[in-house]
Amino acid sequence: MIINHPHWSSDLTIPRSVYVHVPFCRHRCGYCNFTLVANRDEWVEGYLNAIEKEISAVNVGMPAPQEVDTVFLGGGTPSHLSADQLERLIYILTNKFLFASEIEFSIEANPNDITAEKVELLSSLGVNRFSLGVQSFNSKKLQTLERDHDAQVVRDAIDTIRKRVADISIDLIIGSPGETLESWQNDLDDVLSINPTHISTYSLTIEKGTQFWNRWNRGDLNEVSEDSAADYYETGIDFLTNNGFDHYEVSNFSRYGFRCRHNENYWLGKSYYGFGPGAASYIDGMRGMNHRSTSRYLQLVQSGQSPTVESELVDAEASAREKLIFGLRRIQGIDVNAYREETGYTVFELAEKDMNRLLVQKLLELEDQTLRLTRSGLLVSDSIWPLFL
Ligand code: SF4
Repeated sequence: MIINHPHWSSDLTIPRSVYVHVPFCRHRCGYCNFTLVANRDEWVEGYLNAIEKEISAVNVGMPAPQEVDTVFLGGGTPSHLSADQLERLIYILTNKFLFASEIEFSIEANPNDITAEKVELLSSLGVNRFSLGVQSFNSKKLQTLERDHDAQVVRDAIDTIRKRVADISIDLIIGSPGETLESWQNDLDDVLSINPTHISTYSLTIEKGTQFWNRWNRGDLNEVSEDSAADYYETGIDFLTNNGFDHYEVSNFSRYGFRCRHNENYWLGKSYYGFGPGAASYIDGMRGMNHRSTSRYLQLVQSGQSPTVESELVDAEASAREKLIFGLRRIQGIDVNAYREETGYTVFELAEKDMNRLLVQKLLELEDQTLRLTRSGLLVSDSIWPLFL
């Protein structure tokens, strides 16, 4: 069969998703290598001015405001901003974008920052989803991770949020140094007891440039073995799915109707706006990346220059490869016929040898024209993605 490959990515639609990176934290946790500045609250006003400039410079190709379906304030810790600063940030967004009536508007929050005043303000301005960086309910594990809350703070934060907002996602970390199956199971029991709508579980990786990396190099930190981490991950999948959660992406679980639509937009290869230091955007087949350093981002925007320091046209093949990886991250997998129609490529021709090997090894399965990871594939998925790039 002859297949015509398009030259460029087919997704030329105007984005309907907005990401804003808020790079402020009280303290940099030992394992964190995200784009952020710690203890630099005096920069927030300059940051808001820069965000206003960056957003107002966007050409949406139509009379503003443009309607969007999802907004995600991520970080860093967006909830670290004061109520007034958050209000200003959201007004900046509403000057450019119209929130669709069914909008999903998420904010990442630290349990310690949650107050009734902030929740009330945020919900009155359209925020209808909180993503709480809980990580654990175990004081010792939280101390190891250098987090400044405890289980009671989390429970109080949940009670406060629930008075105004029902959709609450909880992030948990698997495999913190010293983690045992018992401590992980306790975290799973605790998260179930607070009944969130969504749970993300992330395996801890010790990244270069972090304090954990230095401590690990000095032999000061015991990493959980890969086998144990895989064991804990699998325990989490079984426990959460047995308790009514839909495991819909490698790291994500939701109650029915509460998948994160913003992230699904990324996984489906759709376009999006990104603002703030280190934020990525994907518009008209063009991927852009803002400068990762907050100070440099501020300088660039203040001096009238674009903060986007890398941009590339994502050609048809690159787009097809990304859609293969993101599609396989979704547990439902890829409809191979729809994939071919959408990308112009078959799922096999981009990495035929590896694809066949993964099928023989039963890390992938092809059933009823759907290609997906098997349970064994899920446990080693991080080693599979580079094969398709
Ligand atoms: S609070 Fe989150 S973003 Fe901030 S330093 Fe800690 S892990 Fe990183």
